[in-house]
Amino acid sequence: MTLLSIKSTQHYDFVKLPKTDLHVHLEGTLEPEMLFKFAARNHISLPWKNPKCLYEACKFRDLSGFLAVYYKGCEVLVTEQDFYDLTHAYLQRASADGVVHTEFFFNPQIFRKEKLPLHAIMRAVFSAVHDMQERISCLYMGTVMRTRPVEEALQALDELTPWYHQIAAFGMGGAENGNPPSRFRPYFDACRERGFRICVHAGEEGPAAYVHEAVELNVDRIDHGNAAIHDPDLMQTLVEKRIPLTMCPISNLRLNVVKNLSEHPLKQMLSRGLCVTINSDDPAYFLGYASDNWAAVHQALNLTTNEIFQLAINGIDASFLPKEQKEKWRNQIKTALYS
Ligand SMILES: [Zn+2]
Repeated sequence: MTLLSIKSTQHYDFVKLPKTDLHVHLEGTLEPEMLFKFAARNHISLPWKNPKCLYEACKFRDLSGFLAVYYKGCEVLVTEQDFYDLTHAYLQRASADGVVHTEFFFNPQIFRKEKLPLHAIMRAVFSAVHDMQERISCLYMGTVMRTRPVEEALQALDELTPWYHQIAAFGMGGAENGNPPSRFRPYFDACRERGFRICVHAGEEGPAAYVHEAVELNVDRIDHGNAAIHDPDLMQTLVEKRIPLTMCPISNLRLNVVKNLSEHPLKQMLSRGLCVTINSDDPAYFLGYASDNWAAVHQALNLTTNEIFQLAINGIDASFLPKEQKEKWRNQIKTALYS
């Protein structure tokens, strides 16, 4: 009898699967109800009448349409308490969802330092991580916006110096088209020189060439990477270099990267031997946490138990956890699926 599956009905309760969420933006976990609560206590007026109207606004045409709502939502995060509550609530939700290890992005560049100093923001985020450490394993990743000049990315990297010992990696996100990864080579080189792992959003809306550029930057992980499906040589390189892709199926559906999840390249990439993983991206805005993504992919692509196992193992392999901890989670996944 497996913990997870009821084989006769092909039903999987993905909440019970020990899993990772390696591509999630803390700001994107701001649930509409919480967003309205923060707005009220900080006396901020919003363009939406109530949370229901915000849910309505979450029907996005593309990445840029989403980012406009996302940055507007970030404006309600003003006090140290807001950042603590946001982080704590996400970690609670992820833990209840069966996420055993999360690596989340947070971009201090978004927030105006004259409103709240960076040290207060970081103190709040790390306090919540500390308070939840018994329930969920968590690593923090700094990230910057690709729509801003590279000098600002370097400045953001400098500003985070006091927290380097608590940072697992640095990444880059934001509107992709016209902002190729190679433009940020000085930033990624500086991250490497300072001993950090690096990851970059590429091939979500952008072309396979951007994924290729990410490989040239010697990244540890590529966030999304969907467009690689159009370039067999590139896929082979990703297999050979064992560069994981942190894919976000429901995000791709909501932003029209795919018209239907049955067209999602994840299963095809998995069969080619790529280290693909399932993640949530901005769950509050895309209406799907980790388990929802797993269930949606399973429903659309009819995963076998072995494919579910491989995807869960990929999540652990692609994480920035130490070796011994990876081994512990691999065993738990095996037990959950096969014992
Ligand atoms: Zn993302």
